[in-house]
Amino acid sequence: MTEDRDALAAQLDKEHVFHSWSAQAALAPLVVAGGLGTRVWDHSGRTYLDFSSQLVNVNIGHQHPRVVAAIQEQAATLATIGPATANLTRGEAAKRIAARAPAGMDKVFFTNGGADANENAIRMARLHTGRDKVVSTYRSYHGNTGAAIVSTGDWRRLPNEYARGHVHVFGPYLYRSEFWATTPEEECERALQHLRRVVECEGPQSVAAILLETVPGTAGIMVPPPGYLAGVRALADEHGIVLILDEVMAGFGRTGEWFALDAHDVVPDLIVFAKGVNSGYVPVGGVVLSNAIAATFDDRVFPGGLTYSGHPLAAASIVASIDAMAEEGIVDNARKIGTDVLGPGLAELAEKHPVIGEARGVGVFWALELVADRATRAPVAPAVMGRAKAELVSRGVIPFIADNRIHVVPPCVVTADEVAEALAAYDAVLTLLDEEL
Ligand code: PLP
Repeated sequence: MTEDRDALAAQLDKEHVFHSWSAQAALAPLVVAGGLGTRVWDHSGRTYLDFSSQLVNVNIGHQHPRVVAAIQEQAATLATIGPATANLTRGEAAKRIAARAPAGMDKVFFTNGGADANENAIRMARLHTGRDKVVSTYRSYHGNTGAAIVSTGDWRRLPNEYARGHVHVFGPYLYRSEFWATTPEEECERALQHLRRVVECEGPQSVAAILLETVPGTAGIMVPPPGYLAGVRALADEHGIVLILDEVMAGFGRTGEWFALDAHDVVPDLIVFAKGVNSGYVPVGGVVLSNAIAATFDDRVFPGGLTYSGHPLAAASIVASIDAMAEEGIVDNARKIGTDVLGPGLAELAEKHPVIGEARGVGVFWALELVADRATRAPVAPAVMGRAKAELVSRGVIPFIADNRIHVVPPCVVTADEVAEALAAYDAVLTLLDEEL
């Protein structure tokens, strides 16, 4: 009977669900029926450690009882209300988000997710400055809508009619340095020089915004070297450019901080958030505005908004999620696990397995970059990554695979025992991959 439900889920998915980012024919996605904390399971009771946090969004873990209860309670009270109303729960949610942002960033604009939050941040920057261009990095992901996808470096090869005014630069990435750097200091200095030259060549008076992921996630989890973001801030200040930090993936605990920017001595003008703010229990995202940019719109209309902006179910889930994360020390747990258990464990794997070119990250935000040859750093073939995924799933671990990397990104509530269990599976699979070299 339960086996039948797994089969039925697979059949209905095959017949009626058109999946994102995929060729449809060969798809056979994992059936997931339930979850709790770091684990999910199918109808037959096969359980998996979710070391993907789905799309790196379930920071608080699956089915946190307090967040589930808050959504249920809100649904029973007021299941929907338009954005042009004052609602206590929405106000409480905005207050909690602003409280985690740097001082002087008091207002929150709500959207339905991360991509539309970036769209609106870019629009705010353009209206605030009266300029057009947006500088972002080649290795980045900002979402799959108009301006967000063209600011996304990795996807700029797609044809897109919205490409007006988007300029790309190389960000710091020491392992594959574009600047022939051999130390983090060199990489930082040269990446800043390169950015400065591009801004100068584009004409600083035409640049509305520099848009960066605080820690680029999907493109490879490259923690910026100390001083890089502060250097970008200084350059932006010199030319009146708006600095937008995209914290959609890095924010709300993932790096062991409320916002990843907290570890980088930088105050942006706009912070873009989504994912971890409520772990995706209800779709939501948004922009935290500096008071200066918010004031731009005191006497003029901000032409942006969506029917479901600031939806009460999303707001209730944000309030409960932030409160639970604070009271249960979930952000601290992410930091400690990263420093004491996950980081050292992955470093050990990197020592042992020639297929790992580099293990890098922070908190519960790590990447294992797999290479066919450590000397040349040539990435492994896509088929190797396909095998890695299948072997990990067969050992009960859901991985997040991107290009030639395994991203090790469990929920922030992960325990040391769960990390040990997953590391044993990675170890076994990496041994198989070593043999293919
Ligand atoms: N920005 C970053 C840094 C992301 O990682 C993502 C999604 O992975 C987005 C924006 C887009 O968010 P969404 O998929 O909610 O539109």
